[in-house]
Amino acid sequence: METLELIREFVNTADLEEGSDKLVDARGLQHWLVFHGLAQLRHRATDADAAEARAVREALRDLLSAHTGLEVDRELASRTLDIAARNAGLSVRFIDGAIAFVPEAHGTTGGLGGLLAAVGEAIADGSWQRLKACRSESCRWAFIDNARNRSRQWCDMAICGNREKARNFRQRHA
Ligand SMILES: [Zn+2]
Repeated sequence: METLELIREFVNTADLEEGSDKLVDARGLQHWLVFHGLAQLRHRATDADAAEARAVREALRDLLSAHTGLEVDRELASRTLDIAARNAGLSVRFIDGAIAFVPEAHGTTGGLGGLLAAVGEAIADGSWQRLKACRSESCRWAFIDNARNRSRQWCDMAICGNREKARNFRQRHA
């Protein structure tokens, strides 16, 4: 799976509008990691792992929100990722002329490290800027901006874009 796609799917394990969360417990996290090839079935996740995964996810969502120009606490978000990266023993490697990040930890922690490795690689190759969180406050769904000028702000212009425009219109004419 493409790197950005993997991160996008991870961030979208929570649907804020529906109020659903695939990483709500240890089982959910384990299932997600196994399904995406980041952990094996015998690796048992704990509820603490799931809590860490959710914190990492929301930190990523904050950083992706910055890609549409929103003000976010990048330092706080980075600190959350940094702690998770250290827990996973993430190290920098050079493979085949490219930079790679490899988690030393195994099991669930290593699985989350694998996801952070994908983030590191996306930042290193510049594709990271194309991954964004929808600017709609109630949505914040992650999407990949493939527009040539990389100007997309909403996951779906027809839904979130128009809703946002309508809200701005109402505010201006209130
Ligand atoms: Zn949206």
